[in-house]
Amino acid sequence: MRIGGIQKTSLIDYPEKISAIIFTQGCNFRCRYCYNSKLVLPELFEEPIDEKEIFSFLEKRKGKIDGVVISGGEPTIHKDLPFFVKKIKEMGFLVKIDTNGTNAKMIEELINKNLVDYIAMDIKAPIEKYEKITQVSVDKNNILKTIEILMNSSLEYEFRTTYVKSLLSFDDFRKMGKMIKNAKLYAIQAFLPTKTLIDKSLQNEERPNIEEMNKVAEIMRRYVKKCIIRE
Ligand code: SF4
Repeated sequence: MRIGGIQKTSLIDYPEKISAIIFTQGCNFRCRYCYNSKLVLPELFEEPIDEKEIFSFLEKRKGKIDGVVISGGEPTIHKDLPFFVKKIKEMGFLVKIDTNGTNAKMIEELINKNLVDYIAMDIKAPIEKYEKITQVSVDKNNILKTIEILMNSSLEYEFRTTYVKSLLSFDDFRKMGKMIKNAKLYAIQAFLPTKTLIDKSLQNEERPNIEEMNKVAEIMRRYVKKCIIRE
């Protein structure tokens, strides 16, 4: 595993749990609105944190946190992710994985081997529009397969989308709603312009206001069981 960072405590990243977050280095997407460029662009990578350091930190967090969130970057590009999370599970922690859904095979393995308790998958755009956001060619069957695996599993999961007004229309949300029809939980988060964006041209992009976020939520509630707006 290449680990680029750790957040000792979070009250918001694992629903209703206290967690620590481990950030993996590297991603197979280049989402225009991504503000994690230090974890995505190899030229910006810092020296990875030794796994031993991570496990000794987690040892000290026993009894203080409920779970560990593995985020990125994209965790599933690391072949040893199943082995890594197995060790975390064996320490007694719940495990949540944040993914862009490009490695359906690994997600299936993690679920089948009971190595994960919660998965949050990004839905970047209607499937035919993915490349407009990710700026790389995307195996769309893998994305659709991961959606299907999550929806057919008994695992706790959520789908989520970052709403950038210049990139996604209300009609795009209708199409995304159809892609994840009957999903248990969907979260929309408003795009946040920062200095570290992969696509600098979005720095002057206006953040969606609460009325626009509510409109999107209203659209998505026609398709999913529960839709929330996340700050
Ligand atoms: S937002 Fe996109 S580029 Fe950034 S880490 Fe997530 S999937 Fe990768």
